[in-house]
Parts: sequence; structure tokens; C-alpha cells
Amino acid sequence: MSDYFEFHRKTEERLLRYAAISTQSKPFDGTWPTTDCQRDLARLLFSELHELGIRAAFDEARCVVYGWLPAAHAAEDRSIALIAHMDTAPDVKGSGVKPWVLRSYPGGDIVLNEAEGIILRAADYPNLAQYVGQDLVLTDGTTLLGGDDKAAIAALMTLAEYYAAHPELPHRTVCLAFTPDEEMGGLSRDLDLKLLGAEFAYTVDGDHLGWYQNQTFNAAQVTVTITGRSVHPATAKGIMVNASDLAVEFLNSLPPQEKPQFTEGVDGFYHVTSLQSDCEHAEIHLIIRDFDRKSFQHRQDVLLEIAHRINRRWGPKRVVVAFQQQYRNMGDVLEQYPFLTADLEAAIRAAGLEPKSEPFRGGTDGSALSFRGLPCPNLSAGYENAHGRFEFVPVPSMAKNVEILLHLTEK
Ligand SMILES: [Zn+2]
Repeated sequence: MSDYFEFHRKTEERLLRYAAISTQSKPFDGTWPTTDCQRDLARLLFSELHELGIRAAFDEARCVVYGWLPAAHAAEDRSIALIAHMDTAPDVKGSGVKPWVLRSYPGGDIVLNEAEGIILRAADYPNLAQYVGQDLVLTDGTTLLGGDDKAAIAALMTLAEYYAAHPELPHRTVCLAFTPDEEMGGLSRDLDLKLLGAEFAYTVDGDHLGWYQNQTFNAAQVTVTITGRSVHPATAKGIMVNASDLAVEFLNSLPPQEKPQFTEGVDGFYHVTSLQSDCEHAEIHLIIRDFDRKSFQHRQDVLLEIAHRINRRWGPKRVVVAFQQQYRNMGDVLEQYPFLTADLEAAIRAAGLEPKSEPFRGGTDGSALSFRGLPCPNLSAGYENAHGRFEFVPVPSMAKNVEILLHLTEK
């Protein structure tokens, strides 16, 4: 496919341009988007779409960019949105990114930064071996790359350019959306679905080319508040209720094996994220995760039952459990639209790859979107070692993704 080489060059050029713009998000402190710098990339994408002659919109307040390619020569239209996030993770430095390209990776270690002695070691990252002979976009070892999720933005923009330049090609209505704050659990909250106007969608995010996800966790945050009764220890007999003791009892009542460090695959878990306590007051924060809706509910019942048991002995409302739902398993929605997965698998195969999938032990923006009425599986963006200084993007992975998305959206 001669266009493949064009996709290779175009996606590489774009990733280098987008990665150099800092778009790091930060923990939510009352304003969305969490950082203003995300608007810099948004403005650029909006103007690039405009220059390509593609109808576009930029919601500056919410920092969302939209683009629309109307259906062409389509026998029947089913409008598809493709969504990628603009922000990068706060885990390591994300400003001053200096992306560069290593041509035809020969294998072995890669010196990222001679002056600082930073080396991407093949022994530490066995995934490197799959990319021998390929062009790799790398960092200078002092920042992340932001291929998560700019590798996807590069592929989406290249797809848009290709369709704009080839009006003779048949395709469905393709809607594009670039969103902020995915790394902060923004869950595409600022995406205006009415304005977007798509019936179905795919997020493009995640590592390893050719992978996709149509199952995510159900997720909730839990706050356990424990009220004790403090009194001088010398005269405490029969009076004191030590909230710290009740907190320990609560934690020891959790199923001991159902923790992240003992689970994998489709196992769910309870995870204690913080504990603060003294005699008078204790507060436990947990998250619970499960793929299966019923066992997710069961986990909530277990926590309530533990509280109930302690309260029976120590008095009502000593222990109070509050749940905050975070996101749900997109699979519960997507099972009603099996063609979304079938089309995606067919598109990956048409691009010469074998589709791979396993339930995603986390949530995606699509988990939330699916329950807001926009069914939305996820296709990998093809980056590697995300959220770290050793992140890299094989250029052929981006070019392949353009191909996959072409097959997905052609009529
Ligand atoms: Zn991402």
C-alpha cells in the first residue's frame, strides 16, 4: 500500500509537533480543564483541521476540539466518532519534551541522553525487541513523550487529512473529538454528545498495536467514617471506644486475598488507598473494582455488612460507609451492539494484524460515554512504556492505526 509510507511520514511529523507542546494535566482542584496549557494543543488542532478544509469547532471554555467529515458515497450511514485525549500524565515531567526519531532501530540499548547517561535498556524493556528495524519516536530521557495519547491524535489527524484529500473514497460520517484531562479521570465529561452528533464511537488510547478493549471495571470510591469516644486512658474502662481499633477491625474483615497484589485477569478487588486514625476519629478510603455487575454489588454489600456487624457491638453509626460511583463496565452496554467489536476486529485484520483483547483493569473515557448513550470501545494507540521517561512510539504502529481506522470507517 503506497499510502502506507505517506501515513508513516505524516504521523511521525505530527507526533513530533504535538509532543513538543506541553499538555500535562494535574489533579483536579476545582477547575476543568485542570491546566490551561492543554488549550495550546487544542488551538493548533483546530487550526490544522480548518486548514485541511474540514469543518471543525473549538469549545475553548471546555477545551474540546471537534471535527466532522460528512459521509461520502455511503450506501447506509452509521456515524462514527473517533476520540483521543490531549493531556499527558502528571507522573513524570511532561514539559520541555524533546522528541526525536531513531531510524531503523538496530536492536539493543538506546542512548537517550548521552550527557546525563540515560539509556533505554533492552534488558529492562523486552517489548523493544518487537520493533527492531522500525523507526522509533523517543524522548531525551528527562521527560515523558506523551505518545499517550498524541500517537492517536497523529493517526486521527492523518486519517482526516487523507479523507479530505480523497473525496472519491466512500466512508461513513466520521466525527473527531480531542478531549482534555483523561489522565485525571475526566471521563470525557466535557464532551458535548449532541454537538458531536455520532451514533457510536471508539476511543483510541492504550499501548500495543492491534489491541482493543470492550470490557472495563465497574468502579467506586468508598469512604468509611468511624467515630470513637475518647477519654483519659486512666479512667477509660467501659467508656472509651477507640476509633483506631475499629478501623483495624474493619480492615481485617476484608477478604484477605482480594487485593490488587493478589489478583489479575478478571478478578476484582478491594484496595485501601488511605487510612487516618486517632482515638476519636478514623477515616478509611478504599476503591472497589469488579468486571461483573453482581459481584461489584456484592462488594458493596460486604462493606456495609462489616460496618453493620461493628455497629451492633459498639452502637449505631459508629461506622458509616459512603459510596461514590466512578465508572461502569462498558461491556454491559456494548453487548447490545456486537457489531462494534466485530467491525473493529475486521478492521484490524484488514490491516494485516491479529486482533488481541483482554478486559481492561481500569476505566476509559468510553466506560463513561457508553453509559451516557454513546457506545464506545477502545482501540490501542500503539504507544509503549507510557507515563514514563522511557516511553516510545514505533512510527509504523501509528501508520497501521491510520489503516485500521480507514477500514473501520469505510462504508
Ligand atoms: Zn491515555
